[in-house]
Amino acid sequence: MVGDSSRAEAVLNQARDLDPVSFELELARRGWANQSGSEPEVLARRQRISARLGSVAVAAPERADAWIQLADYLRSLGNHEGALKATASGLKRDPVNIELWLRRTRAQVELNQLDSACRSLRHCVKLAPTHDGVEAMIRVHPVCSKCRALFPTPGAEVCTHCGADGPARGAPVASVRAARQSKFDIYFPRVREVVARALDMPDRIKIQLTLDTLLKRHLKRSNQQCAAVLRAMSEQFGPAFDLPLFNSAVIGFLDILIADLIRAIDPRVDKGIDTGIRQRALSNA
Ligand SMILES: [Zn+2]
Repeated sequence: MVGDSSRAEAVLNQARDLDPVSFELELARRGWANQSGSEPEVLARRQRISARLGSVAVAAPERADAWIQLADYLRSLGNHEGALKATASGLKRDPVNIELWLRRTRAQVELNQLDSACRSLRHCVKLAPTHDGVEAMIRVHPVCSKCRALFPTPGAEVCTHCGADGPARGAPVASVRAARQSKFDIYFPRVREVVARALDMPDRIKIQLTLDTLLKRHLKRSNQQCAAVLRAMSEQFGPAFDLPLFNSAVIGFLDILIADLIRAIDPRVDKGIDTGIRQRALSNA
């Protein structure tokens, strides 16, 4: 707000007209940005601001924006317990708010509650898999490839959970995202290849084919085409199919057929995947 006071005034008046909570949030932002005075004075001002913002949020618990701002202020004051509580209060009213979930995860990491942080981060991935903040958090906090516990930093020496070497010692790490992969995610790239080849799809169409389009759209195809896919899948995964499941696969709708066939693959028998992936597929099957 430096240098353009009339515009700043307009914003403030607008907020006042809008609603009292937005007005308070804007006031708090200004007070927080005010650097005048000695260091202890600035700190004391910021503590007053976050205390006031705390009562604003309590009075309007449905306002996620107030809880978010409060959590951010408390974090920069080093009050991670407070930040954690603020996110809990906000999530009570708005349980799918990804901004609150990200701040909750961060507070848990700061408090060294790594198991909880890991669960929260998995939840973030589920809620908003492509959110920038989620992506960033996943990069900063890899998981142990042995026990899937969260590393507090990308340069951690050891896993505090199982004692395995951390990324700082050159150990390979995994990501929370990979731990959530289901058998469908794991087999999808190979299945897509097989299906595209069997149906003679142009590359342009093949690229557009996602797991969702393969499994959720009712892709009516001729019995001939379904049979071609069935044949191609059998060539690729033949010995790995669980026979009763394979025999119950339904020809008619391509998506149902593909889902049936992926379900019928037994990762224990499939030689085409490495052991790590196989174990993951088994634990998620
Ligand atoms: Zn570990």
